[in-house]
Amino acid sequence: MTEFSAAEHQLVRDHLLYAESHKPHHDPARDKVLRDKIKQLLKQHNAVLLAHYYTDPLLQQLAEETGGCVSDSLEMARFGHEHPAQTVVVAGVRFMGETAKILNPEKRVLMPTLEATCSLDVGCPIDRFSAFCDAHPDRVVVVYANTSAAVKARADWVVTSSIALKVVEHLHDQGKKIIWAPDQHLGNYVQRETGADVLLWDGACIVHEEFKAKGILDLKQVYPDAVVLAHPESPRAVLDVADYIGSTTQIINAARESSAKRFIVATDQGIFYKLQQQMPNKEFFIAPTAGSGATCRSCANCPWMAMNALDNLADSLEHGTNEIFVDPELGKRAMIPLQRMLDFARQLREKVSGNA
Ligand code: SF4
Repeated sequence: MTEFSAAEHQLVRDHLLYAESHKPHHDPARDKVLRDKIKQLLKQHNAVLLAHYYTDPLLQQLAEETGGCVSDSLEMARFGHEHPAQTVVVAGVRFMGETAKILNPEKRVLMPTLEATCSLDVGCPIDRFSAFCDAHPDRVVVVYANTSAAVKARADWVVTSSIALKVVEHLHDQGKKIIWAPDQHLGNYVQRETGADVLLWDGACIVHEEFKAKGILDLKQVYPDAVVLAHPESPRAVLDVADYIGSTTQIINAARESSAKRFIVATDQGIFYKLQQQMPNKEFFIAPTAGSGATCRSCANCPWMAMNALDNLADSLEHGTNEIFVDPELGKRAMIPLQRMLDFARQLREKVSGNA
C-alpha cells in the first residue's frame, strides 16, 4: 500500500467534514406541519407514497410511516403495481414515475417534481438509440430501468441493477448477443461477470462516476477494517477495490449480513438513512469523490433526487399537479420488457424460497 501522507489525511478529513456540512437543513416545525398535511392528503386521495433510497430521509420516513415503500426502482415498481391505492406518488426521478404509470395505466401517478431526471435517461435519446439497435439486429436489446418509456418500448428486456447480472447470464446461456444501454460501467461489469457478448452504449451516472478508487484506498488507511461496498454504476477502478458490488438493496443486505462494523459506501448518500436505521451500531462512510479529475467533493448526492421535498410533494398531492402521462400505445409496448423483468424476478424469488 502507498504511504499515507499528512496531506492525504487532511484530504480525507476534509472529505468527511464536507459531507457532514452539506447535509440538507430542515426547519423541524415547518417539516412537521408538512408531514401531517401529506399524511392527511395521502388518506384523502387514496394514495400511496413510494420513495427511492436516494431521496431525502424525511421522504423515506414518511413513506414508511404511511404504509408506502422505500426501495430500489425494481421493488418500487413491484410495490406500486400490487398496491390497491388509486394514486401512486413517486418520490424519485422521472423514469420511475413513468415506470409506475406504464405498470399501472389505470392509476393516477404523481411526482413531487417533473424536473427530476437522470443523466442515464438524458444520455440515451430514443432516435439515436433506435438507430443503434437497428444497426445490430442480431442482438437482444437490454436496457436499464433508468431510461425513457420510448427507450423501454424499443427494448426486449428492462433490468434494474439488482437483476441485471441474472438476466444477462440467462440470455448468455441461451447463446444470445446483447446490446446494453445506457450505463457503460454497469454494462462493463455485467460483461466481465457473465462473459456475455455485450455491445455497450456509452452513458454514465454523474453521481457514481465521481467516486475515486484512490480516495477509497486513502480512507481505508484511516479505517483498515472498513469493508468497501460499491454500486456497479461506479467506474471499474472503484469496483476493483470494492469488497462487495451490488444494487442499493443488495448493499444494504450485504452490510447487515457482514460481521464488519465499518463500511465505505460508494453510492448516493441517501442510502445512509436505511443503513443507519437498520444498523445503528455500525459506522458508514461515504466513498470519497475527491481526487484527480474530480469536479466536486462528496457530491455523492444525486441533484435530481434532491429535488424531491416535502413542500413539492404536498403541493402535488393537494393540487394534483405533476401527473405523469405516458402515451397508451407506447406504454403497452414498454410494458412487454418490463413485465418480462417482473416475471423473471418473481421466478427467481420462487426459486430461492423453494431452495430455502
Ligand atoms: S443517482 Fe445517477 S443513476 Fe440515479 S437518478 Fe441520479 S443520475 Fe440517475
